[in-house]
Amino acid sequence: MALIVQKYGGTSVGSVERIAAVAQRVKDWRDRGNDLVVVVSAMSGETDRLIGLAKAIQPRPSPRELDVLLATGEQVTIALLSMALEHIGCPARSYTGGQVHILTDSAHNKARIRDIDGARMRADLEAGRVVVVAGFQGVDEHGNITTLGRGGSDTSAVAVAAALKADECQIYTDVDGVYTTDPRIEPRARKLDRITFEEMLEMASLGSKVLQIRSVEFAGKYKVPLRVLSSFQEGAGTLITFEEESVEQAVISGIAFNRDEAKLTALGVPDQPGVAQKILGPISDANIEVDMIIQNIAADEATTDFTFTVHRNDYARALEILRGTCDGLGARQVTGDDRIVKISLVGVGMRSHAGIAAKMFGALAREGINIRMISTSEIKISVVVDEKYLELGVRALHDAFELDQAR
Ligand code: ASP
Ligand code: MG
Repeated sequence: MALIVQKYGGTSVGSVERIAAVAQRVKDWRDRGNDLVVVVSAMSGETDRLIGLAKAIQPRPSPRELDVLLATGEQVTIALLSMALEHIGCPARSYTGGQVHILTDSAHNKARIRDIDGARMRADLEAGRVVVVAGFQGVDEHGNITTLGRGGSDTSAVAVAAALKADECQIYTDVDGVYTTDPRIEPRARKLDRITFEEMLEMASLGSKVLQIRSVEFAGKYKVPLRVLSSFQEGAGTLITFEEESVEQAVISGIAFNRDEAKLTALGVPDQPGVAQKILGPISDANIEVDMIIQNIAADEATTDFTFTVHRNDYARALEILRGTCDGLGARQVTGDDRIVKISLVGVGMRSHAGIAAKMFGALAREGINIRMISTSEIKISVVVDEKYLELGVRALHDAFELDQAR
């Protein structure tokens, strides 16, 4: 007998029929002798609809009131799912985040979970009930309703699994697992049976949308066994593992990409201590996150070029700030480009294999793709290329590293 936490996303509970199908799946798991806690998202499109309503009243609604509003989406699905379970003879009880004490900080719209009191859920499980919990929401120490940021139900589920020391946390979604890359870009992308936690963390942070990155961080911190699988078809999905089996470990596990990139360059800035801080300080003061940073070696020993990337939404503001800074520094010129993308190769096998970067650059060169920036970590290599090369680049790399073939 195992304790399993299942999470169903918006499309999986997108209609009354879908909710009934989820109830049947939950009941099947329970009939096989497991204890079940189910975390659900709002019905698909509902959170967007609620945000639309709020913005129709006020372009920038109060974050606190927005949370009161958004939390209703998940409250609808917990009640409907519990009714659907009871209807097929499976005792169930629904709870909002506050009711099971999902305690968060007070950062409305992007709150972080601090603690969960598992007592109430455990009592229900002992009484033979399925526990249905609203994802995406919690409550701060003053009793205010909070939400965890878009896609936050993944994190709710992992946090509940950690608090209850569940045997497995299953994330049901509309894809049947984690793929070597997005199948919409490369139809030969292959579903992975397993991926290491570190690789999943990189994939999530590099733009793969399968899991909210915070949920992966949470799973890592508390060693929650996590599985991604489809609520629309049967299958074992993808298991996120904590051990690296070096024997059959592929060198590369996947290719992630991110279209939301923009880059900015300050040309001819003085090559002196403190300049990098002077350039990036005002950017971070404006709450703009910087991703890649490259500073060239000074060609003339007096000045250098400094390039960094930001989210495309922040591009215009970052450019304005950088222009201001560079006037003060006496830089030669500021340039920028928001038609770029980042493509990343991810694999723990990179640690023990030389020549991965050369192979990657060779594959891109054969397609005539110019690399504009490069950055690496122990288990990833990222390149920035022109946006028009995204599909071609991903396919070329998928092919070069033979990711369509099973390990
Ligand atoms: N309903 C929320 C959203 O749409 C949370 C979630 O689905 O995970 O972002
Ligand atoms: Mg989601």
